[in-house]
Amino acid sequence: MTTSAPALPEIPDLPGAVRLRVAPSPTGDPHVGTAYMSLFNVAFARQQTGRFLLRIEDTDRARFRADSESQVFDTLGWLGLTWDEGPDVGGPCAPYRQSERLDTYRPYVERLLAEGKAYQCWCSTQRLAQMREIQQKTKQPTGYDRLCYGKTREERAALPGFSETPVVRMLIPDDVEVEFDDLIRGQVSAPRPDDQVILKADGFPTYHLAVVVDDHEMGITHVVRGEEWISSTPKHILLYRWFGLTPPRFAHMPLLRNEDKSKISKRKNPAARLTWFQEQGYLPEALVNFLALLAYPPAQDADGNDVEVFDFADFSARFDWRKVNPVGPIFDLKKLDWLNGVYIRGLDLGDFAGRLLPFLIADEVLPAQPSLSELARLRAVAELIQTRITHLTEATALVRPFFVADDALEIAEDARAGLGERAGEVLDAAAAVLGDIDDHGHGPLRSETAWTAATIEAALRGALVDGLGIKARFAFGPLRTAVSGARVSPPLFESMEILGKTATLNRLSALRATL
Ligand code: GLU
Repeated sequence: MTTSAPALPEIPDLPGAVRLRVAPSPTGDPHVGTAYMSLFNVAFARQQTGRFLLRIEDTDRARFRADSESQVFDTLGWLGLTWDEGPDVGGPCAPYRQSERLDTYRPYVERLLAEGKAYQCWCSTQRLAQMREIQQKTKQPTGYDRLCYGKTREERAALPGFSETPVVRMLIPDDVEVEFDDLIRGQVSAPRPDDQVILKADGFPTYHLAVVVDDHEMGITHVVRGEEWISSTPKHILLYRWFGLTPPRFAHMPLLRNEDKSKISKRKNPAARLTWFQEQGYLPEALVNFLALLAYPPAQDADGNDVEVFDFADFSARFDWRKVNPVGPIFDLKKLDWLNGVYIRGLDLGDFAGRLLPFLIADEVLPAQPSLSELARLRAVAELIQTRITHLTEATALVRPFFVADDALEIAEDARAGLGERAGEVLDAAAAVLGDIDDHGHGPLRSETAWTAATIEAALRGALVDGLGIKARFAFGPLRTAVSGARVSPPLFESMEILGKTATLNRLSALRATL
């Protein structure tokens, strides 16, 4: 090992008034916390005309999952939380994957070893486990007992529990005190850390060393991360001190919690996975709004009333660290559902129809390349359902009847069971009166008596409610079942208009034939 301390590299001037980063570990489906953390990072970076970086912390080779990184790109991109520097877009601090930066960490480790601030440790995992067990049984404080400290390899090899490849540990002084000023929590003091491993036996740095070196070399000015890292921050601050560097500012965000206050984990809660929100038909802008509200107060209107619906630009403009609520927010999906409905209703019609498309294609309601007439019909149906759904996934059941052949329409069990005694009579009278309506067109030249929702409604009310004396509820139920196959559907007369006269009559007679 070297005896003179190697010089640390000079860091060039980097772009951005402030520089923030999110640093997910690619260990599986991206966690919703990654989006939540990114949102607060980006909001501040944009407000300050700074930069936002995406760094992949892949030093834990045992938990590494190859497809995880592209899922991080996809889900953060879907949310519009885009990064200025990262593994895919490059930047002045490339590479942005820690596994590609192994040489970067070496001089830092050598320097600590040369200065006696770190030492090699050859203890086997088995010995460390035994040590911990004894400490726990005898109620001693847990932590490394420094068996290797001050020993040469030969001296240590003579003792039990020796492993060939050493790790490197920080030598944390006994009397060390580390306090730091957190942008959200104010002054934080944390207990004295253990002699933390900074370089693993496989030659990879641990998170603690890599995060400090990379945040320094990438010019990070504000470290915004989850509160689970508070107890690690003293180790990081010591490393900055030992390297003669000024630490960044820290902000530890409150952890997202389940209703029972436990930490949201992917094992227990499907909503911990970011891809779940895509699958469930949430809009990215609703999720962004929801994540902001979890730890940040709503906006206020001119009269001082809370405004819970706001977009990213608005959030970023009024963002202030002092207003972040440090108490772990409950992940209340009912609130997200409400927001999602609000955002769905706020979309313009073309946009709304476009967002339904991938779901309808995946559910085989529409082909992968819909025709122009299919798209026109989708737009017409979309208008009927926009106020009726809270998740995009709900569209499939409502839209499908408009795209199946008349003889392929399935009648749901409950709809058939609810037809009522007079269904046959209703279907016959409806078919007769609808048959008299002109079937020409939806164009500007259509006549007063053409096939439109208004003429259909007038004709059916006249024939069924006035003519047969059946209450509207019972009169229209069988018709709804005939045209949609379900008890719940988009508005009946508008649906008939979109289906057209021929299809409507085909469906009425198809159901009639089964009675
Ligand atoms: N890789 C860490 C994580 O996934 C990053 C923590 C940090 O932001 O410092 O949580």
